[in-house]
Amino acid sequence: VLALQLRGMAYGAEAVLGPLDLTVERGETVAITGPSGIGKSTLLRIVAGLEPGFDGRREVPGRIAMVFQEPTLLRWRSARDNLRLADGIDGARADAALAEVGLDGLGDRFPDQLSLGQQRRLALARAFASEPDLMLMDEPFVSLDARLADEMMGLFEELRARRHLGTLLVTHVAAEAERLATRILTLSGRPATLA
Ligand code: ATP
Ligand code: MG
Repeated sequence: VLALQLRGMAYGAEAVLGPLDLTVERGETVAITGPSGIGKSTLLRIVAGLEPGFDGRREVPGRIAMVFQEPTLLRWRSARDNLRLADGIDGARADAALAEVGLDGLGDRFPDQLSLGQQRRLALARAFASEPDLMLMDEPFVSLDARLADEMMGLFEELRARRHLGTLLVTHVAAEAERLATRILTLSGRPATLA
């Protein structure tokens, strides 16, 4: 579901990413690790099509969903509407998606009326409800306490198991990569200049 041949990426004169080949097949989760500032989020943005200036080739035959560190919910919309606004899902599918993450009956609540864990569940439900072929996740479990992080990873594993998608997971937590990933790509070093 993803083939990327990256020759390089630069912000102005600053080279960020050097050459790399990256593929993600259905059914696999590829973790991207590496130190802060190395270009992990930039790589995800290239894959998402948000960095049109990169040097290389990118093929993503299908639908992409993204999950960020903070749940990006619409605060003035109900939980159900947060789901429906993702790709025009109808009410019945939105309710099914809520039930799938244990939020049955909470569709009329606004994000502020949900606990942090419930907001996270809603954000994950929304990403999966659009039936993506490729899921992009940027440190999705990073600011959570150990219990909640464990619960969310378990939920992610359940949602993933019921579908046949590929996932690209950015994380700097080794245990997270080892638990969730089928392959781990570690970014290290940095090109001094970009040819
Ligand atoms: P972290 O683990 O801290 O999230 P990261 O590996 O995700 O780091 P990126 O956000 O991809 O790192 O940033 C890579 C480099 O590119 C950094 O040096 C950063 O300062 C720089 N950078 C990121 N976005 C921009 C931008 N829009 N303009 C200029 N430089 C940028
Ligand atoms: Mg980042």
